[in-house]
Amino acid sequence: MLQKIDHLGIAVKSLDEAIAYYEKALGLSCEKVEEVETQKVRTAFFQVGDTHIELLEPTSEESPIAKFLAKNGEGIHHVAFATDDIDSQLQNAQDAGIKLINQEPVPGAGGKKVAFLHPKSTHGVLTEFCSK
Ligand code: ZN
Repeated sequence: MLQKIDHLGIAVKSLDEAIAYYEKALGLSCEKVEEVETQKVRTAFFQVGDTHIELLEPTSEESPIAKFLAKNGEGIHHVAFATDDIDSQLQNAQDAGIKLINQEPVPGAGGKKVAFLHPKSTHGVLTEFCSK
């Protein structure tokens, strides 16, 4: 079952410049910066109430974030829902005819298991499930 919006993923060109914006203009403090090798990104997390902002900077031209930036520029990249059972959540989506990017969960930031649904079958929103 989905529990909450865990985080919004935002693609940025420069993590350092974007962190400065969230800290200086919005008054948030960066919780951690972490590289996620499976996604070829560096991430920075900010807590806002019960949810988070995840900034994503590509570490390689091969990164999905590099491709997103080339096509769309900076902006909201994905919406992530926390789930207590990522496997059945993926199965439900597949049973509903949704195209999956990840057939199986993969390691994400913060030691979580994550899996993405394809935006072509989710009304344009790249959708992530994540679980502890
Ligand atoms: Zn995410």
